Parts: sequence; structure tokens; C-alpha cells
Amino acid sequence: MISFYPGPSRVHREIPAYVRDAYAQGIMSINHRSDAFVDMSKRTIGLLKAKLGIPKNYTVFFTSSATECWEIIAQSLVTDKSYHLYNGSFGQKWFDYTKRIRPLAEPMPFHVNEPLDPTRLIFDLKDGLLCLTHNETSNGTQVHNRIIKAIKRNNPSYLVAVDATSSMAGVQLDFKSADIWYASVQKCFGLPAGLGILVCSPQTLERAQAIGERTHYNSLLFMMDMMEKWQTPFTPNVLSIYLLMRVMEAAPPIKEVHETTVDRYEQWRDFLKKRKTIQHFVEAEAVHSHTVVPVRAEPKVMDTIKKSARKAGLLLGEGYGDFKASSFRIANFPALTQKEVRTLMTFLQDY
Ligand SMILES: *Cc1c(COP(=O)(O)O)cnc(C)c1O
Repeated sequence: MISFYPGPSRVHREIPAYVRDAYAQGIMSINHRSDAFVDMSKRTIGLLKAKLGIPKNYTVFFTSSATECWEIIAQSLVTDKSYHLYNGSFGQKWFDYTKRIRPLAEPMPFHVNEPLDPTRLIFDLKDGLLCLTHNETSNGTQVHNRIIKAIKRNNPSYLVAVDATSSMAGVQLDFKSADIWYASVQKCFGLPAGLGILVCSPQTLERAQAIGERTHYNSLLFMMDMMEKWQTPFTPNVLSIYLLMRVMEAAPPIKEVHETTVDRYEQWRDFLKKRKTIQHFVEAEAVHSHTVVPVRAEPKVMDTIKKSARKAGLLLGEGYGDFKASSFRIANFPALTQKEVRTLMTFLQDY
């Protein structure tokens, strides 16, 4: 089965060998306060910074998931209000989680086919938080880096937090244009689920200090204290950190990965333009995601495609929420090979 699911997704084919190495090297049982762990943690963070282009003065934290990052941000970086710009299910879930912790969280939904206009997004509170989803996995749209950058430029006293769960390590992100970026590893990193990565600017850490929240095991201030020693407040997923280190050692620089991802997205876009019964789910090309390709068709056609795809050994991502019956999603993640992409295109050509 080739998985085109946009998370959990196809893992890199080297993963089984890395897991065997981890076992042979005793990684699975190392103490998370040991020198061996500290060396590995430090090396992994160094590789993430070097390979993904994360600024030196930003801090990288290990969490257990992107969902945990929603919670950390709400509890440790918001005092009252946060604004949530979203056009799909993940952005909305982030808002829902935040609202339970900080009831003044404000939803600002926008239309799928409509790019955000930064000139209309100027906020007048001091020290607030703006939340954006870089790549909305549920509907295959993205908010371009230049828009995120303009929003931050127009609101410098705000922290800008970006959910990059299904784009980090798949496309190039301009980390310095926002304050908080996070992802989990079962999407573009091509790893098994169970580890999240949270990246914070110096301004974010200052805000956390000013707020002083220390009531949860994963309060950002505790995480900062522990990360000074390359550690976490809890026992982390050591195996996953090891696998991440190995994957990052082997990964090309993000610029190269980005070019391949965009090239493959363009192949998909052009392929879908030529089809009669299936189309790209999103009309406005300007907002198309580069890492998730959503496809729409009549429910009857969709049903046939989904059934025969499974028989052909191709696992497609289900459509999300209301669009489950009329759409499917194709991951365009680095672990997939050009050959696998071709195989799916050949299969879809007959519809
Ligand atoms: C998958 C996903 C999440 C949730 O990730 P978890 O690892 O399950 O917490 C959040 N946001 C986006 C955009 C996602 O694609």
C-alpha cells in the first residue's frame, strides 16, 4: 500500500533501519537526563536549525504533538485576547481549544478562495496574539509567507503564531517573519506520530517571562528552564527524537526540498486541469497549498475512485468534514517518490 494520506503519512523508507540502529545503540533505554540524551537533543536541534533555516536566536522545543502546542500557547502566552484567522477545520480547532482556556479568544474566519489582505488586518491591542494556519490540511490552502510577514510588520507588538504542521520540512518557511511556529512529525517530516516541534522567537520568550505562567507541566517557562540544558520537563519520545535526528542528517537543505515540492504540486495542478471528472478542490490557484492537494468530484465518481484505489494499493486521504463524500486529499510530502506520484497519476488518468 502506498499512502498518500496527509498525516499520518508515508514514512521515509530508511525508518526501519534507523529503528534497528536505535535498538542496537541502546537509544531506546537511555535516560533523558543523561549526557547521551543531551548530546542527541543538541545535535537534533542544531540540524533542524541548519536544514530548515531556523534563525540562531530562536529556541526549539520538543512537545508531543501540534495539539499540545495549541495548549501551551493558550496557557503560557495569552493573558486575555487572541485573534484566530482561519478558513478550515484545523484553524478552527485551534480557536476552539484556545477558547476553552481563554474565553476571550476571537474567531476571524475567512473564505477558502480568498487570500488574506494584510492591509485590513491591523489590530490595536497591545501585546496580543495572532494565530494563523500556514497550511490548512483540511482544505489544501496556504497563507503565503509574504502575507504572514506583512501581518507581523503591521502589528509588531503582537506575537504571531503559525501552525505549520503540514508544511514544516516540506516547504521553506521564513521563520523570522513570525514568532511561533510548530509542527508534528507525522506529516512532512515523514516520521511516525508522537513528537511535536515548537519554534519560538526571543520576543515570545520575553512575553512568557512577563506573563510568568507556571501552573502546568508544559508551561513554557518550565520548558525554557529545561531547554537551557537541552532537556524537557517530562520524559520525551526519545526514539522519535533519534529518528528525527537521522532524517535531518540525511535531508537536503530546505531550499532543495522546497523546489521539489513546488515542482510536484505544479505537476498535480496541471494534471488536474486536464481531467474532466475530477478537479482541484480550490478554485483560486493563489491560495493552493504546495503540500496537500485536495481533489473534488461527483460523489458517485468519488466512490468508484476510492474503492478501486484501495484495490490498486493506493491509500488516498479522506475528504475532511462536510466534504468527505465529494473529495479526497493527496499528500505532497517529501517521503513520497516521483515514481509513486506517477503511479497515482496513471491510476487517476482513467477517471
Ligand atoms: C495534523 C494537524 C494538526 C494536529 O496534529 P497532532 O499531531 O495530531 O496534534 C494540527 N494542525 C494542522 C494544520 C494539522 O495538519
